[in-house]
Amino acid sequence: MTATQIVDLAIIGTGSGNSIPDERFDDKSIAVFEENVYGGTCLNVGCIPTKMFVYAAEVAEGARHGHRLGVNSRVDSVDWPAIVQRVFGRIDPISAGGREYREERCANITVYSAHVEFDGRDADGRYRLVTADALVLADEVVIAAGSRATVPPAISECGAPYYTNNDVMRLERLPDRLIVVGGGYIATEFAHVFGGLGSAVSIIARGPALLRKLDSDISTRFTAVAQEKEKWDVRLNTDVTNVVELDEGGIRVSLGDGTHIDGDALLVATGRRPNGDRLNLGSIGVELDDHGRVVCDPHGRTAASHVWALGDVSSPYQLKHVANHEQRVVQANLLKGWESDDLLWFDHRHVPAAVFTHPQIATVGLTEDEARDMDLDITVKVQAYGDVAYGWAMEDTTGFCKVIAERGTGRLLGCHILGPQAPTVIQPIIQAMSFGQTAHDVARGQYWIHPAMPEVLENALLGLEI
Ligand SMILES: Cc1cc2nc3c(=O)[nH]c(=O)nc-3n(C[C@H](O)[C@H](O)[C@H](O)COP(=O)(O)OP(=O)(O)OC[C@H]3O[C@@H](n4cnc5c(N)ncnc54)[C@H](O)[C@@H]3O)c2cc1C
Repeated sequence: MTATQIVDLAIIGTGSGNSIPDERFDDKSIAVFEENVYGGTCLNVGCIPTKMFVYAAEVAEGARHGHRLGVNSRVDSVDWPAIVQRVFGRIDPISAGGREYREERCANITVYSAHVEFDGRDADGRYRLVTADALVLADEVVIAAGSRATVPPAISECGAPYYTNNDVMRLERLPDRLIVVGGGYIATEFAHVFGGLGSAVSIIARGPALLRKLDSDISTRFTAVAQEKEKWDVRLNTDVTNVVELDEGGIRVSLGDGTHIDGDALLVATGRRPNGDRLNLGSIGVELDDHGRVVCDPHGRTAASHVWALGDVSSPYQLKHVANHEQRVVQANLLKGWESDDLLWFDHRHVPAAVFTHPQIATVGLTEDEARDMDLDITVKVQAYGDVAYGWAMEDTTGFCKVIAERGTGRLLGCHILGPQAPTVIQPIIQAMSFGQTAHDVARGQYWIHPAMPEVLENALLGLEI
């Protein structure tokens, strides 16, 4: 028998969606739906566990390269099960605790551990949300259903085993040889994790370079570093045509260029698709755009009255800090009311992003090519990490930052950094762009700690020909 519940608010997805109900929602009855692990992608299979693995890989890489500084260190062995246990021994209880808190300690909230879809509206205009064994009628709905890994048919239809970000971090043993398909940020982060910890990594990308969506100088340098001294076996301009399990163990991945690679595990990281296609949104008149994203306005409102969307399912940016921001906007707008004339807006003006691979990468604003395509009158300065004292301290030979500003005004347009701690080093530029400070203001309106790594930014800003 189908149980029926009537609620004020339904939330689909417990990633960023889980943060919506706070004490201001205590007078609302709320249904929360989650078909997977409680807490969503970032906590369970995304940002947080990957960065915990990345840090272990960084430590191993550092030990391996100590000799450049006269430190005779090496990596004797890597205890993969201990690393997995460190990561998930911390994360799994957080997920379980989040679920338990909502289930046991929030009297106004019912958690449905199930896949849910829309089924139109009832006679009173409430949204019908159906699971396998429940019907929930809701006045208002937030779609925070996230995205999922896509797997090319050439791989999924072969029947050979493969992993995605959902399960690769729980492998029982560190593979001797890992084959990574994909050239984007998830692929290059995992390549670093496994390569850093000792796997021989092959990486296969369709395009002519890795991380092609980034500024071309960053992408070119990163690809060169990845190929340097055969750090990874980098296969570009090719695609997977077949995957088979070998009798003697392991797998063979055949490529479009006629070659093949043998490995012990295959990781597919070829992109992520928003989950809006699995919600029967047509039944409530909500459309997906050409990228499969739920269409919503800058306040988070979809075409269906009182149905909101946020995060990966609708956002052009599949990033947790953006999903968090959109969650705060939708949360505030829910309290203001659908018809309010002072709804908050999604602020997508200066969205930064980082790639926690090796070397690390961070980016904000326009790439140089984008700025030139827009016919902006720009000035560009590239500064090497090795030009500043902390870069000397690290014996860094590959890191650099590129700052792009408008000639005449000094308006900052973009910044792209490749090198140690890039996601931390870039923050002053994100702040400056967000608050409208010019290149000169940023360079000379504050102290820069000497001799810290951000001096590379200071020098780049001073080098711009405004
Ligand atoms: C490997 C990896 C590394 C990443 N690293 C970073 C990083 O370093 N920095 C960064 O900013 N971002 C990173 N991201 C991206 C980030 O994780 C996402 O942008 C963010 O988690 C999206 O949050 P969300 O709330 O939109 O969706 P999610 O957190 O994915 O939550 C959506 C939830 O909805 C559930 N759901 C979906 N459909 C239904 C349904 N029909 N019924 C019931 N439940 C449903 C899903 O199971 C999921 O739990 C990474 C992602 C991956 C995969």
